[in-house]
Amino acid sequence: MADKKSEKKIDLANLSFSDSVSYYFEKAAPHTDSARGLLDQIKACNSIYKMNFPVKYGNQVKVIEAYRVQHSHHRMPTKGGIRYSVHVDQDEVMALAALMTYKCALVDVPFGGAKGGINISPRQTPPEILENVTRRYTAELVKKNFIGPGIDVPAPDYGTGEREMAWILDTYNTLRPGEVDGYACVTGKPVSQGGIRGRTEATGRGVVYALNEICSHADDMKALGLSTGLEGKRVIIQGLGNVGYHTARIIQEYGAIIIAICEHDGAVVDPNGVDPKALLKYRTEKKSVLGYPKGKVIKNSAAAMELECDILIPAALEKQITAENAPRIKAKIVAEAANGPVTPAAEAILLKKGVMIVPDIYINAGGVTVSYFEWLKNLSHVKFGRMQKRFEESTQRNFIKLVEDYTGKTVPLSRVNKLIHGADEIDLVNSGLEETMVSAYRDIRDFKKRNKKVEDLRTAAFAVSINKIRDSYYAMGIFP
Ligand code: GLU
Repeated sequence: MADKKSEKKIDLANLSFSDSVSYYFEKAAPHTDSARGLLDQIKACNSIYKMNFPVKYGNQVKVIEAYRVQHSHHRMPTKGGIRYSVHVDQDEVMALAALMTYKCALVDVPFGGAKGGINISPRQTPPEILENVTRRYTAELVKKNFIGPGIDVPAPDYGTGEREMAWILDTYNTLRPGEVDGYACVTGKPVSQGGIRGRTEATGRGVVYALNEICSHADDMKALGLSTGLEGKRVIIQGLGNVGYHTARIIQEYGAIIIAICEHDGAVVDPNGVDPKALLKYRTEKKSVLGYPKGKVIKNSAAAMELECDILIPAALEKQITAENAPRIKAKIVAEAANGPVTPAAEAILLKKGVMIVPDIYINAGGVTVSYFEWLKNLSHVKFGRMQKRFEESTQRNFIKLVEDYTGKTVPLSRVNKLIHGADEIDLVNSGLEETMVSAYRDIRDFKKRNKKVEDLRTAAFAVSINKIRDSYYAMGIFP
């Protein structure tokens, strides 16, 4: 159980990222009724692999610092992305690996948590060097048995994507030839190489499914002074990377208005709505959002996060909302699409102001959820929908024919085509993702409602997650 005295001594403003995750864990622990020994086991980081290896840059050699951390082996394989950034260090990777454990448990994805990181700038490193680094990193993981379909399965994270996952797959298959399930050694691969449709946008789509569910609860919305539904909600998004971009694109389809998109070099503000597709195109061409011709471009990107809005979605890196800027945040809902964007000190300030914080371990779990579907696809060696699509379509067609025969009326072809559509891979992925996000939110919300002392969604989410991990330890018979 969390010790009240030690809790008081914690200096929230100076916690490292991994200490912040421990802090959230301890805040939730008393609400789970678990024995201390079991809590310690759940919280402990199981394996840390730090590596240094040389890579050629022209006629120079650079030593690369990289990590793979497996936080929990209570379920195997372990799972989590690989991040390429100059901020990568052991503490960050440990924190992110721990978050993966709690995230997977919360959304019933049967994996332990892991994370990898390479200290490198993906923007300033030429692709051929990035490829060498990725392949060497994979070889190091193979050497130490830190990768494999039943061992540890990496995926994209900040600074990585399909391209890097394809390099990992190719290196793994080269070093472990003939493994029948080899394709399941990594997720987030291109569809042509064993990937799954819908994985690229999964985190962003999951964020929108989650917000759509959250905003459907009239009593919660009323308490925040908001109407129900996403339609007309004013949204600010920080980050136009994979998560930010797809969140922006999809939330617009639900009728929300993106009043600002904040990037590292500036923000675009437009009360009538910023078009994420046009902005991304501009930024890709010009390598900056500065000079974007529509709306107002401001250099002080952090200030744009403080504008009046309904939902603020930090979708970039950790520690973006701190004790320094939290007092000026005006959003009613802060949705943590990134991992760890709100510090504990900032959280205390926001909660006092009545802001609803939707925690990362829940709201950004869409990525790993669809990774799980990809892994299942790779293990079953068959595309989702292949067996049933035509069968479903002919059953529907027969049913319509029956209705037509009995009524003597003809159903218009456009309606028929819509009705008979059998589920494709993308339909099944999106429906599985929506189901996951909706039911996990109901678990968190119900827990909070049943436990009156739990005041915020993060504590409820951690408690639900800890309880699920606790149950898998009980099932192993290790703890009494
Ligand atoms: N990097 C993503 C995350 O933080 C996805 C992990 C995965 O798909 O394994 O959740």
